[in-house]
Amino acid sequence: MKDIKEKIQESNSIIIAGHVNPDGDTVGAGLALLLGLEKKYPNKKIEFVLQDEVPKNISFLKGSNKIKNIKDIEKIDYDLAIFVDSATIERVGDVQKLIGDIFKINIDHHISNPKYGNINIVRDISSTSEIMYSLLKDLEIEISLEMGEAIYLGLVNDTGNFAHSNVTDKTFLVASQLMALGVNNNKIVNDFFKTKSYERMKVLGKALSEMVFVKEKKLMYFYLPYNELKGLNATKDDTEGVVEELINYSGSEVSLFLREEENGKIKGSLRSKHGADVNKIANIFGGGGHIKAAGFTTELSTEEIIKIVVENL
Ligand code: 5GP
Ligand code: MN
Repeated sequence: MKDIKEKIQESNSIIIAGHVNPDGDTVGAGLALLLGLEKKYPNKKIEFVLQDEVPKNISFLKGSNKIKNIKDIEKIDYDLAIFVDSATIERVGDVQKLIGDIFKINIDHHISNPKYGNINIVRDISSTSEIMYSLLKDLEIEISLEMGEAIYLGLVNDTGNFAHSNVTDKTFLVASQLMALGVNNNKIVNDFFKTKSYERMKVLGKALSEMVFVKEKKLMYFYLPYNELKGLNATKDDTEGVVEELINYSGSEVSLFLREEENGKIKGSLRSKHGADVNKIANIFGGGGHIKAAGFTTELSTEEIIKIVVENL
């Protein structure tokens, strides 16, 4: 902790990097850190940069307009890079190009994280946002309401609204302390979960009507080709939540959602209900994550992917 503090103090320009297809945890943790560092060190240049746009149902967070998209950034020589919620360096996508060979702090909660930073705070807890709460306290940064809301959204995102097995008494303690700061649980949860676009509802409907169940392996899967996504006038953000819905079936032990990207590659999302380790399966395709939630991107065909997943369950 002392090293992190010193490193931040001696750096004049700092880049915070989050993962591609950003979710509430990477945005929440990164935004809380950005706002906290800006307040504590007003003379430093600090930027939070993402390859992809902040999804619509996260952009209600105050201060999220300060998050930079890679296309709006001119490359400068940063002194320090802080990675949030990114299991590998490659997970930040094109933002890597802004970073290069500088000092790296890696703040993450994925068990697959190889600890690629010069300093690593990698803990197997609910979310990077839960780590960020204690980190900010350790850095003696006062948590404002805006920062608290960002962290709270990260908790809600990665715990499935405090429903997953990654929730501990400590997670609730952080949530409780954030509510004591003034965070409105009901508002955050409604803004996040109950503001889905029409297209997103359509994608979900398509998934629920076309999903396939592999009985022997208790696997529920759904594949969405790119042209069908476009046919629904939808974007990749509109596919969030599909994989969680597929695991809700009483017979499902594992769910798999495959989405074709514009470049033809396939993005896979895996969830498991009880024992199955989907991190191991994602590793086969070069991805990773957690035991019960993992992902990957691959050039293999859907048939090949499904075959490999079924064989390894
Ligand atoms: P999702 O399926 O929602 O994209 O991701 C589930 C979990 O797996 C998240 O914790 C996410 O960070 C991680 N994950 C998703 N895709 C990848 C990937 O390509 N590589 C790695 N290492 N982790 C991933
Ligand atoms: Mn996370």
